[in-house]
Amino acid sequence: MKGKVKKQDSMLDGVRCVVNTCYYYGEGDCCMASQIEIQPRNASNSDQTDCSTFAPK
Ligand code: SF4
Repeated sequence: MKGKVKKQDSMLDGVRCVVNTCYYYGEGDCCMASQIEIQPRNASNSDQTDCSTFAPK
C-alpha cells in the first residue's frame, strides 16, 4: 500500500488541504486519506505543525 493509511473514495470531512503534491490530495483542496496525523507535539505556532500522513504522489 502506498502511504501510511488507506486512500478512500470520499473526502475527509472538515479537512481542507492545498498540498497538491500529496498522494491523498483530492480535487477541490480536500484530503482523501482515511485519517491524518498532525505533528509535532508541543508546537507553539502553526508554522511548526505539519501533516505527517503526507506521502508523495
Ligand atoms: S494526507 Fe495530509 S498533506 Fe496529504 S492531502 Fe491529506 S491533509 Fe493534505
